Amino acid sequence: MNTINNSQHDHQEPRIGVYICRCGGNISDVVDVDRVAEVSRHIPGVVVAKVHTFCCSDPGQNTISQDIQAEKLDRVVVASCSPFLHELTFRGAVQRGGLNPYLYEHANIREQGSWAHKHDPAGATAKSIRMIAAAVGKLQYSTPLDQIRLPNHRKALVIGGGIAGMKVAADLAGRGIPVLLVESSGRLGGRLNQWNRVFPTDTPAGQLVTKLLAQLDANPLVEILLNCKVTAVKGFVGSFQVTIEGPLGPSGAMTSTQTTIGAIVMATGFRPYVPDDGEFLYRKDPGVITMPEFIDLMRGQQTGAGELVYKGRTIRSIAFLHCVGSRQIDGVHTPRADGKINTYCSRVCCTTTLQQALAAKERFPSLQVYDLHQDIRTYGRGHEDYYVRAGKAGVVFFRYHGDEIPRVELANGKHPGEPSLHITFKDYLTWGEELTLDVDMLVLAVGLMAGDIPDLINMFKLPVGEDRFIQEIHPKLRPVEISVNGVLLAGTVQGPMNIEETLNAAGAAAVKASAMFLKDVVELNPYVAQVDADLCQGSGSCVTQCEYDGAIAMVETQVNGKSVRQARVNPGLCVGCGACVAVCPTRAINLNGWRLDQYDAMVDGLTADIPAVAAATS
Ligand SMILES: Cc1cc2nc3c(=O)[nH]c(=O)nc-3n(C[C@H](O)[C@H](O)[C@H](O)COP(=O)(O)OP(=O)(O)OC[C@H]3O[C@@H](n4cnc5c(N)ncnc54)[C@H](O)[C@@H]3O)c2cc1C
Repeated sequence: MNTINNSQHDHQEPRIGVYICRCGGNISDVVDVDRVAEVSRHIPGVVVAKVHTFCCSDPGQNTISQDIQAEKLDRVVVASCSPFLHELTFRGAVQRGGLNPYLYEHANIREQGSWAHKHDPAGATAKSIRMIAAAVGKLQYSTPLDQIRLPNHRKALVIGGGIAGMKVAADLAGRGIPVLLVESSGRLGGRLNQWNRVFPTDTPAGQLVTKLLAQLDANPLVEILLNCKVTAVKGFVGSFQVTIEGPLGPSGAMTSTQTTIGAIVMATGFRPYVPDDGEFLYRKDPGVITMPEFIDLMRGQQTGAGELVYKGRTIRSIAFLHCVGSRQIDGVHTPRADGKINTYCSRVCCTTTLQQALAAKERFPSLQVYDLHQDIRTYGRGHEDYYVRAGKAGVVFFRYHGDEIPRVELANGKHPGEPSLHITFKDYLTWGEELTLDVDMLVLAVGLMAGDIPDLINMFKLPVGEDRFIQEIHPKLRPVEISVNGVLLAGTVQGPMNIEETLNAAGAAAVKASAMFLKDVVELNPYVAQVDADLCQGSGSCVTQCEYDGAIAMVETQVNGKSVRQARVNPGLCVGCGACVAVCPTRAINLNGWRLDQYDAMVDGLTADIPAVAAATS
């Protein structure tokens, strides 16, 4: 084991402050924080180690800022919750104390300490000490860093003109930011153009679209391109060069335009699941239709209109089948062409089904309506009302198990010349006994699938989740951001959402995007690769290894009067992944803030022979 010892480093003795947070008991109920502070005081370089109930509170932050001045601290460690939550908070406190904000390290002793080891207080305490020792070790090699500042072009691009894209464009323009809204079809509104009245208010879908259209029309900062697509993108946050082509389709000569954009919002939406031919007899019998087809059929059907007739067949009974294309089970459902099944819940189908079952019953009171579900997931405010009202209106409910999919066959109908659909299933609202239903129509409540946007995924290197939707950085802490700087998500491009959730997400994306335009420059963390010109011999391995187009390139440069090829990093495109560092044969590349000597020091800190750790765990 190494012993922590500053003499191995040839810098001036650092003066490090360590602040340990109780997190109101979240940490201190498990970790012995006083012991951690006591031991930390003995780690070389540490001159102050204090415990605070909430380091993130104003008094907690003030303690740090004041100690920097009073104790002449030149580096700070805060041992608290996840850096996702408060790294920026503490950088601010350090800066207010007069230090460079990158002379700060965060040790996550909550998620990785007290929460991970809540049944092992001694182990959690020892681990917390080691994490602080690692952070202290790293800090001894830290140097002041400056944020990267790039020019910021004050214009946003929104791709997709559904309700999400429209809302983002309206909000951004409302804040004075010019917006270009690019929609691949000939009309704004997306899927809402297909629906009638939408839950939970039964508002005509068209009304929502019209309201947003009016806002867009009224704002001269909004430019709308219909029948157009983004076909190429270069550059980086603040200065994306985007190529747009249109009009799509056979009519009109296609033209291509280029524009410079500061931030981009993806709002390309979803696709309804389309059952395979023969799945529940879909496309084998005209009585089997999907929910979007049923909504279309119900359009314009008036109450008291007599009988429901579809493709010449009088419909006297309908069964609605939930979870078609959602909540699929491995080994039970057939994978799609890409080998995947949809294990997720599509969230909107339960309420849509109940709303449509109720509407059918209200418009055609003599209709026999059945509902076959696994569970009823009407989770939003007012959604459960549809369930209650449908039950009162006479809709009959059955519950099947997800791994016992109802079987649908053709049978001779009760009426001459009219076949009926014979459905067999086990009902678990009773005793799991096998039941059969004969109906004239089966409506498949299809789920939501990720949109078909492979071109955009490749172009922008969009991160795709296991469910094929575009994946945000963190569902709670950074819900509309992705790993590509300057590109945000809005609406169902990200996963199943109803209209209310879509509009909330779009509002959040607009806020995030407008915050990016508060300054004329984009400020980024300095954690990017840096090439040491004295060591680079131009092998080019870094360029081959890099997955981010243009983030690193070979350039001709002059060294001692000779022309040589060396690697050059574009800080706007580098994401700091470190892949280039690992392959450089001459160790000429390092990551700012995460240099190899800092890693070495962290490992030394983690493995150091700290007698108090042994005592804590014994
Ligand atoms: C059957 C069914 C019924 C529903 N009923 C309700 C309801 O009653 N109430 C409710 O709250 N929710 C309902 N929903 C959910 C609702 O449809 C969605 O919440 C909403 O449509 C999401 O809007 P969006 O803008 O994210 O996506 P979309 O509506 O899919 O819009 C995306 C837009 O992006 C465009 N686009 C796609 N690719 C590109 C590209 N490459 N370039 C440019 N443009 C592109 C598309 O043409 C489209 O205009 C229902 C969903 C289904 C499946």
